[in-house]
Amino acid sequence: MKELTCIRCPMGCVMTIEKAGEDFVVTGNTCPRGKEYAISEMTNPVRSFSVSVRVSGGERGAVAVRVDRAVNKKYILPIAEFARHTVISAPVTEGQIIAKNVCGSGADLIAIAAVNGA
Ligand code: SF4
Repeated sequence: MKELTCIRCPMGCVMTIEKAGEDFVVTGNTCPRGKEYAISEMTNPVRSFSVSVRVSGGERGAVAVRVDRAVNKKYILPIAEFARHTVISAPVTEGQIIAKNVCGSGADLIAIAAVNGA
């Protein structure tokens, strides 16, 4: 049995989930979205997140980037590490793809904001 807090809305229901044969038994959820979240956390936990990458020759030295779709949690650290070692050249446009299929996650890393040249 695993205890987890639902993050699908601000109520933050505390739930438990337990495997029962091929299915799961979820308790503590106030609505069906909680059950769906709990099962996804057990079978394929995904997250959307943002990090920053360094920019050379720009008015700012870094730009925030995000994955364009939720990725399995196992890709968060490799993508963060990739971003830490990445330097891109200005100018950067909002929505610019920084890396396609970053770290094999299936998601592209895209710039959240623009950075003009210095
Ligand atoms: S179970 Fe439903 S009500 Fe509870 S936190 Fe999740 S989405 Fe919100």
